[in-house]
Amino acid sequence: MKAAKIYGKRDIRVEEVAIPELSKGMVVVKVEFAGICGSDLHEYSEGPFSIRTHSVMGHEFSGIVTEIGEGVTTVKAGDRVAVEPIIACGQCINCKKGYVNLCKARQGYGYTESGGFAQYAVVKQENVFKLPDEMSLELGALVEPTAVAVHAVRESQLKLGDTAAIYGAGPIGLLLLQSVKAAGASMIFVVEVSEERRQKALELGATFVLNPLECNIKTFIHSKTNGGVNVAFDVAGVQETFLNGVTTVQSGGEYKIVSLWENPVTFQPNAIVTAEISVSGSYAYRNLFPEVIRLLACGIIDGNAIITSVIPLDRIVEEGFEVLMKDHNQCKILVEMDI
Ligand SMILES: [Zn+2]
Ligand SMILES: [Zn+2]
Repeated sequence: MKAAKIYGKRDIRVEEVAIPELSKGMVVVKVEFAGICGSDLHEYSEGPFSIRTHSVMGHEFSGIVTEIGEGVTTVKAGDRVAVEPIIACGQCINCKKGYVNLCKARQGYGYTESGGFAQYAVVKQENVFKLPDEMSLELGALVEPTAVAVHAVRESQLKLGDTAAIYGAGPIGLLLLQSVKAAGASMIFVVEVSEERRQKALELGATFVLNPLECNIKTFIHSKTNGGVNVAFDVAGVQETFLNGVTTVQSGGEYKIVSLWENPVTFQPNAIVTAEISVSGSYAYRNLFPEVIRLLACGIIDGNAIITSVIPLDRIVEEGFEVLMKDHNQCKILVEMDI
């Protein structure tokens, strides 16, 4: 089969590789669509993550089951599925507490096992989720990133009628925007440097879109909310968004961090203490694929609105990674395996 393998910084190659072996409890999925994630882009620009032990990338994907291994009962050949990439050990203290997304011996398709930027993936039956007939396989590839956004909102303090701010309007930011809207936020501020992304956020339901280079975010949000938003979500992960995030939350509110950070930040903790703000993190998702599939299938979250291109696997570097590095008009690029 053809697959995209990462060799190093700015070095991803599409090559012929063997299809992973089918064993007991596993399912062969003929991959149809796989999304390029911000973290894939990070590995492309900075080199592979230290956790990576398999070179075939891709952790946001959908496809059709072509073969099942011994003991598989949940799916059959012909089923259309989305694949959950996290493989938890089930044994560690975090798994035992139910935090399978924080498993200490975490493995994953597209990281430690062959992933979705390939014509076939062989995955555990527990990791495949059937898509309803009316849901496209394109949307199937969006279940994984959408789950990141939905988990962050479900774990937050946000309640019906609350106000929210979102820092960063890339794919996860735009999915968060739709998730907080669906959860009943009555006023949503989206803070984003890129003009194209601000425009997209407006189309998807932001009440206000703000450019931090032109506007004093704290002053603006405080003036519209009488003291700040209930919950701010950070999907940008830089010094400025941290400071704005903390200072635009009202007393007793929450600053929820969804992004991973490249650099440390410097701040005065009194901003948190004197306003009794909760600072919390949200990582990936757990036990959420069925809910997210329903949200996308019925359009409560409009996944199609964030898909900006569909490209063939052979062009994944030129039309995928390279384009995402410079073009902020792009949001989610899907790789289609069959073209
Ligand atoms: Zn991802
Ligand atoms: Zn574990």
